[in-house]
Amino acid sequence: MDTTDVTVRAVRAVGPDTIAIQVDAPADFDAKPGQFVQLAVTVDGNEEARHYTLSSPDADDLLEVTVGVDPDGTVGPYLEALEPGDTVGINGPFGHAFYEGEPAVTLVVGGPGVGPAVGIAERVLQNGGDVAVVYLDDAHAHTDRLASLADHGADVFLVGDDVEPAVDAALSAVGGQVFVYGFSEFVREVADLLEARGIESDDAKIESFG
Ligand SMILES: Cc1cc2nc3c(=O)[nH]c(=O)nc-3n(C[C@H](O)[C@H](O)[C@H](O)COP(=O)(O)OP(=O)(O)OC[C@H]3O[C@@H](n4cnc5c(N)ncnc54)[C@H](O)[C@@H]3O)c2cc1C
Repeated sequence: MDTTDVTVRAVRAVGPDTIAIQVDAPADFDAKPGQFVQLAVTVDGNEEARHYTLSSPDADDLLEVTVGVDPDGTVGPYLEALEPGDTVGINGPFGHAFYEGEPAVTLVVGGPGVGPAVGIAERVLQNGGDVAVVYLDDAHAHTDRLASLADHGADVFLVGDDVEPAVDAALSAVGGQVFVYGFSEFVREVADLLEARGIESDDAKIESFG
């Protein structure tokens, strides 16, 4: 696989144990909101690679990913310590669960799934569409971007435990194409909720983070 070295432009905390990293987009890089990239780094002499989903509304010059950092994880703490001017390897883009200009979009996300949620929602509003975000976390990240989305007409539901009432509210307020991003347990739970409401998993755009 071809890895391109790109320069880190910014690393900032966007919530508890959550960072957003901006890097230069490689030349001719055509990534859509909701696609993911592979970042390749060397940690303690070992080559490591992890997937991260775009959290920027585009990847024209810069692209951003949002990383939930487990302090005991291998790559998360390494990425958190990066500084502007450092380099990381990048591959991709990958994935089929991406925004394709749908006029109405409902995003149901958990944990670091907030990254693609803010990126896609910003792009939907730029395009004049309607968007709802249901975001489950015990401590929410990207609250400034979510507040700005709400100010600009998005329906934003920040949830601490049970997503079901917010999913129903989002589907009746906006509906449209449903996207689901998060770790596997969350994604499975939401897929079951959607199926119970007549939305088959094949019709939703679902990406599991493992
Ligand atoms: C397609 C895809 C897209 C992804 N996009 C993102 C993204 O946008 N942002 C992001 O933060 N991560 C994303 N991930 C996960 C990411 O690739 C790493 O697995 C994660 O950052 C942990 O890496 P690490 O080296 O820090 O931790 P490791 O040393 O690999 O340790 C594993 C840690 O990862 C977390 N973890 C792994 N699996 C699960 C799980 N099933 N449920 C809950 N927590 C789990 C836990 O905190 C766990 O302690 C994505 C994964 C895939 C496959």
